[in-house]
Amino acid sequence: MTHALKSDTGSRNVKNLVRLGLGVAAAGAIVAAGLAPRVLAQSVPADAIAQTTALTTTIGQTQTLTVSQTEGPYFKTNSPERSALVTDSTQGTLLTVTGQVLAADGTPVANALLDFWQADASGAYDNSGYTLRGHQYTDANGYYTLTTVVPGLYPGRTEHIHVKVQAPNGPVLTSQLFFPGVAQNNRDGIFNSSLLMTISDNGDGTLSGTYNFVVATA
Ligand code: FE
Repeated sequence: MTHALKSDTGSRNVKNLVRLGLGVAAAGAIVAAGLAPRVLAQSVPADAIAQTTALTTTIGQTQTLTVSQTEGPYFKTNSPERSALVTDSTQGTLLTVTGQVLAADGTPVANALLDFWQADASGAYDNSGYTLRGHQYTDANGYYTLTTVVPGLYPGRTEHIHVKVQAPNGPVLTSQLFFPGVAQNNRDGIFNSSLLMTISDNGDGTLSGTYNFVVATA
């Protein structure tokens, strides 16, 4: 299936395709979630940014490209732009995933596209709408934040989050993220341990995850 962002007429004009049906509250939450890291990044002096752990530990260090995975049957083009896929009524265990998109030489990739989609906590995809679907772009230092819930199991599959990642002018990587310690991981033929997030329990009923993607940039 051809990804909408790879069209000849404007491979990264997905913003023009975003639907405008978001509620005011949801839009406000998205703006807040999207602005927070950017404001922080812009307010930190350049020399301080250069000292951050993530930058100093990856630049110049060759990275292994993230493994690609099957898209599966439930991808939809034209997802809304948002980093928070949850609303007040979303059921499930709240999960915040953070990380960077890196080039193979370890350089953070700014303005990389990440398009996430997943099943809800009951294992069901929204194939008529865009629940638990959304795309976003990395900040100036290659960081992304995804606010979602832990997806449920569905027949044949362990817990997973689908994602497409694309550096500006780069090819689309289609892959999936997995959760450590899930018994079904070992019974899922698609599961790949290199795509395991690092998950930590926040002690308040929510989880935090981290994963860095490494993608081709040309
Ligand atoms: Fe799936």
